[in-house]
Amino acid sequence: MSRMTSRSLVQHVRALHQKEYSAEELTRAYLDRIALREAEVGAFLTLDPEGALAAARASDARRTAGEPLSALDGIPFALKDNFCTKGMLTTCGSRMLANFVPPYNATVVERLHAAGAVLFGKLNMDEFAMGSTTETSALGVTRNPIAPDRVPGGSSGGSAAAVAAGEVSFALGSDTGGSVRQPAAFCGVVGLKPTYGVISRYGMIAMASSLDCVGLVTRSAADACPIFSVLAGRDPRDATSCDLPQGARGAVDSLRGLRIGVVRELMEDDSIAPAIHARLQEAVQFFAEQGARIVEVSLPSPDVALAAYCVISAAEASSNLARYDGICFGKRTAKDEDLFSLYANSRAEGFGSEVKRRILFGSYMLSEGKRTLYYDRACNARAAIRTAMTQLVGQCDLILTPTTPTTAFARGGGLTPAQRRRADLCAVYSSLAGLPAVSVPVGCDENGLPIGLQLTAEPFAEALLLSVAKRLEACV
Ligand code: GLN
Repeated sequence: MSRMTSRSLVQHVRALHQKEYSAEELTRAYLDRIALREAEVGAFLTLDPEGALAAARASDARRTAGEPLSALDGIPFALKDNFCTKGMLTTCGSRMLANFVPPYNATVVERLHAAGAVLFGKLNMDEFAMGSTTETSALGVTRNPIAPDRVPGGSSGGSAAAVAAGEVSFALGSDTGGSVRQPAAFCGVVGLKPTYGVISRYGMIAMASSLDCVGLVTRSAADACPIFSVLAGRDPRDATSCDLPQGARGAVDSLRGLRIGVVRELMEDDSIAPAIHARLQEAVQFFAEQGARIVEVSLPSPDVALAAYCVISAAEASSNLARYDGICFGKRTAKDEDLFSLYANSRAEGFGSEVKRRILFGSYMLSEGKRTLYYDRACNARAAIRTAMTQLVGQCDLILTPTTPTTAFARGGGLTPAQRRRADLCAVYSSLAGLPAVSVPVGCDENGLPIGLQLTAEPFAEALLLSVAKRLEACV
């Protein structure tokens, strides 16, 4: 990897400040890197070199003029293709939105523009954020930059692949049930899912509204801190958004005395790969050596958590995706003899099979007579998981688990939907409970494939989480 693009965001901030290189030089270095890697990696759906260079020059002009600059001024980034970008294609990886050019920016896009960050373009994803491989995208193939015969994970596979390949300094993704953490683990980068609501989702195209979060993909835990500071906080256009409360837990300098929870059910789960179990044990030992207290805790069964996630996310997605009717939103069929065939054919042509499967499943879960049997029970299970998780993060400071049960799958591996969903085994707890969680790269398995471990904390404890994540990533 060329020297400049292998540096962390924090190093770029320092180098730009010390005028070691300009934002334009930095942007050109990343564009060169893209020219070198992108044919193999395939992370981008839209690349905007002219826009990036113009933004970089504007950043240099601000710096020369001595204007006050945010930490992100001049830093190259890209967005998962489900964030609305004014005047730039936003496809959600779907034929349904293949020609959609939003007339407005998502709030996070506005905030990053205001901070002076340099937008490179839009990244591939599983269609409408449904999947764990990025293979459900209708618009392109993305490979894992560490091992091109492997998937990058999903649904934010383009985001993780772009950062891991050194094509951008950071990327945003969305995390509904692990979609930032799981690809981060598969590609060997850091993935942060913040507390539900702490980053505005205005302009992030919805999958499952009670779970969707904006997520950050970075090379290191330290890199996530300035991005989180720019993005967090209430937005009047998202009623579920909120400010970080006074008294939110801050960063720690030492691990001494921290209570680290390890989950008995996951420690004993033999669907988790041996190499991942081994890393987890090493991390437990590292924390103990640093003076942390290891507390064994218990969680409701992973099968219950996965089932609740599956029902709730599909039910909400079926409702959110009802708007793509070929009239107000989405691709319109040419076969529109009457109103019904217009709706039916537009949706049949626009959506891929995974999306259709979930719409059918979710609609069934909500249908008369079935709702109490499935959806309401899933909500009850979720409430129990939320209570259990909230108690745990009160009892311990952090919970340590694997991020995923396996390392990256082979491409086109023919996994069943159920097998792919198991990739979310460890991720869905914090999604269902709305808690912040981060995946930290901790080395590789016997095939050289990256392994991620996950830390989960109480609501709004992102500073604590990232400070401990820094220690964990440094221990390998
Ligand atoms: N893999 C999960 C799913 O397919 C995660 C999706 C997400 O977080 N957007 O549902």
